[in-house]
Amino acid sequence: MQYKRFPLWEKGCLAAIIILILAALLPARSLEAKEDRPVVRVGYPIQQGLTEIDENGNYTGYIYDYLQEIAQYTGWDYEFVRAEGDINESLMTLMEMLENGEIDIMGGMLYNSRMEEMYDYASNSCGIVYTVLKVLYEDTAFNEASREERPLRVAMIDGAAQRREELEEYCRMNMLIPEIVPCDTEEEMLQALKENRADVMLSTSMEFMEGLRTVARFSPRPFYFVSTKGKTDLLNQLDKALQSIEQADPYFSASLYEQYFNPPNTELWLTSEEKKYVETAGTLKVGVLSDLPPYQYTDEVTGQLKGIGVDLLEKIQEQTGLSFQLVVAPDEKTLNRMAAEGSIDLVAGMNYDYELAKDRNVAMSRPYITTQYMLLISDRMQNRRLEEMSMAMVDGCGCYWEKTDTGVYFQSREDIVRAINSGKPYYSYMDAYVAQYYFNKTEFKSLKLIPQISIDSSTCIGVVKPASTELLSILNKVIQALPQDEMQSIIYANTIFKESPTLADYIKENPFQAAAAAGVVIFLIIAALAWGIFTKEKLNRKITLELAKHREIYGLVNDYFFEYDIKKDIFTISMKPDGNGEERTAIYNLKSGTDEKTDYRKQLLEIMVPGKDGIRELQLPEYKQNQTEDTLTLIWIRLAMKTIYDYKGNPVCIIGKMNDIEEERRERDKLKNQAERDGLTHAYNAKTSLRLIEERLQGLEEGNRGALLLIDIDKFKNINDTYGHMAGDQVLCEVAAVLRECFREEDIVGRPGGDEFVVYMDRMKENKALADTCERLLQNIRKINVANAGKVTISVGAVVTKRGDRYDEVYKLADNALYRAKREGRDGFFIA
Ligand code: GH3
Ligand code: MG
Repeated sequence: MQYKRFPLWEKGCLAAIIILILAALLPARSLEAKEDRPVVRVGYPIQQGLTEIDENGNYTGYIYDYLQEIAQYTGWDYEFVRAEGDINESLMTLMEMLENGEIDIMGGMLYNSRMEEMYDYASNSCGIVYTVLKVLYEDTAFNEASREERPLRVAMIDGAAQRREELEEYCRMNMLIPEIVPCDTEEEMLQALKENRADVMLSTSMEFMEGLRTVARFSPRPFYFVSTKGKTDLLNQLDKALQSIEQADPYFSASLYEQYFNPPNTELWLTSEEKKYVETAGTLKVGVLSDLPPYQYTDEVTGQLKGIGVDLLEKIQEQTGLSFQLVVAPDEKTLNRMAAEGSIDLVAGMNYDYELAKDRNVAMSRPYITTQYMLLISDRMQNRRLEEMSMAMVDGCGCYWEKTDTGVYFQSREDIVRAINSGKPYYSYMDAYVAQYYFNKTEFKSLKLIPQISIDSSTCIGVVKPASTELLSILNKVIQALPQDEMQSIIYANTIFKESPTLADYIKENPFQAAAAAGVVIFLIIAALAWGIFTKEKLNRKITLELAKHREIYGLVNDYFFEYDIKKDIFTISMKPDGNGEERTAIYNLKSGTDEKTDYRKQLLEIMVPGKDGIRELQLPEYKQNQTEDTLTLIWIRLAMKTIYDYKGNPVCIIGKMNDIEEERRERDKLKNQAERDGLTHAYNAKTSLRLIEERLQGLEEGNRGALLLIDIDKFKNINDTYGHMAGDQVLCEVAAVLRECFREEDIVGRPGGDEFVVYMDRMKENKALADTCERLLQNIRKINVANAGKVTISVGAVVTKRGDRYDEVYKLADNALYRAKREGRDGFFIA
């Protein structure tokens, strides 16, 4: 009969219950246990929350986790055995396999005597399942109903007789009259709730459905691991493991239950009374201590109240619509007074301590933080017994677990920490977060913290009496609904070390590390410098080598380097190594300095013009040691120059090369001479005479005079004819020599052709002087004595010239004058 009900509890129904029902119908069989099996075969029917396989193929669930914990003690490996078909079919198969000994154990079995005949039960249960009533999460009607006889519409799976019995008993006790809303599936029950055809739905605590919350829980039933009959050894191991789990963590099954069947719901739901309270409460005054970091304190920088308690109040405001006004309480005593006289409605944070609550006249919310206590002592006192010391307490906030007569009271916790840190024989207990806060401060380096494992410190919100139950309930709901990670981030934000330690602090704190760090830094600096020097040295060597190479190359072609530093006025010439192979540099200041080379420095400075790059030639004294003005030898130098600019475009220096072109210059002069002069007499040839005289005529200054003399040897043909051509040439040379003697160097002496010469002079003052010059010339010519050439005379035609005269006109005049001189008997002159 019971078997027929089975399909109605189909999906999502607790497997253990099914097992229980099935058990009544199954024949009892007994099987031999196989000993010493390293791998334990586990029946693994797929059931939500109990034995699951996730999307990645990983096993998970309440029973699975329990098995893993058992394996910690037994060392078992598992082989999870699954069976074909839906939940009912697979359960039937697996239970039969368990009975046959084809698998070893299965979890989640309820107890009854029929089943016990078929399987061996572990002595300890592995959990408790309740029958529960659930409502839609936001539905508060069930909570708000008062205790009076009233009907309760219950959606439940039709035909679950035992559940119905349990429900009826529950309703009797709570003055409720059940009206069953029959459903076939869980979805139907949920639909009935949503459509308001039912007030609650009947379920078990081991079924989880999103959007529902439990409002009533009754009829607890333990469930167990079972094994094939007779597997004593396996069962003994299982029993021992279960006992060990229970001893190590009494809440193990409760926490698994929370994990798989009661995940925290972070949604806040308020009853209509609570909502009404929020609307009418107005602004609530909250007493906040200013000296209890990290819970409540005044920020040193902003002067605002901060802390974990303050952040939590902020969250409560956000989520409920309540409004808080923070009131500073400088110390515990003042806070107590404020609460006693009712000038505040709430206390932001206080120890969850009934005695303290009574003293303060407050009701307490559920704790929002629970942590350990820490014993604070000075590291200098750690070998002393506590009895030899005094307990330090904050005035108005005693220690509620240790009554002491030797207590010393301080104004604030910081005062206590300071006293302990200074090495005084005090000790104190503080919440781990408070203790850690001070411990993190570098100034309290002597502080020692010893965790007090046996005593928990819980912090809650105090509601000043007469406390509104709605307010208390609202606070509790927010605290309960606040996700763990959100609370952790509030704690973290207030406990992370905000003090930025100074370098001095660090050095004081860690002298060895600081010394080591300083050592490392110094080493790095030295290494960097050494590297710098090394690379610079390397670079210098490279540059020196490059320079030497260049010098060698330029040395082959008579070249020197120079560099003129414009700003510093330093002219440096790098010269070829001397005979001993030593490098030589000559350094001059071009603008300053007075010595025998001053004129040449000026010449150099004149051409050292930034931007006027190119090639120049000039004569400079040859470099010799211990030179005097008399020993200076000038040589022709060619400079190739290039201006170097900085990144801003300002000229920095002029660099270049110089080479000795003395030889070249000489060669060039020779060639020039040959081109310009008559090869026989070395007087200028006709072309050059013309050019030079023309230049002089053009260059004559206004008012100045010049003179042109045209000279022809008398009866030269006769000399040639009488004494020979050679004698004639000799006479020509002698005449030219006399001309050079008689005139100044700057005067132009040319031989236009044949036995004719031309002389041009600048600065001729008057005709008289010209006549004297001509006369003197005639006399000197007469002195010529060429062997076998007879007497030599000349005739001269002279013309005075002025600026702007043309050569050919002047020449013509001179030629006419010469003709006159010839006609008048030769060996004479005529001035035109
Ligand atoms: P005059 O007094 O009128 O000038 O009589 P002259 O004989 O000097 O006549 P003219 O000046 O006309 O003659 C110039 C001669 O000079 C003609 C030529 O044979 C000779 N002569 C020209 N060039 C050279 C030369 O390079 N060497 C020699 N030995 N004789 C030259
Ligand atoms: Mg002649």
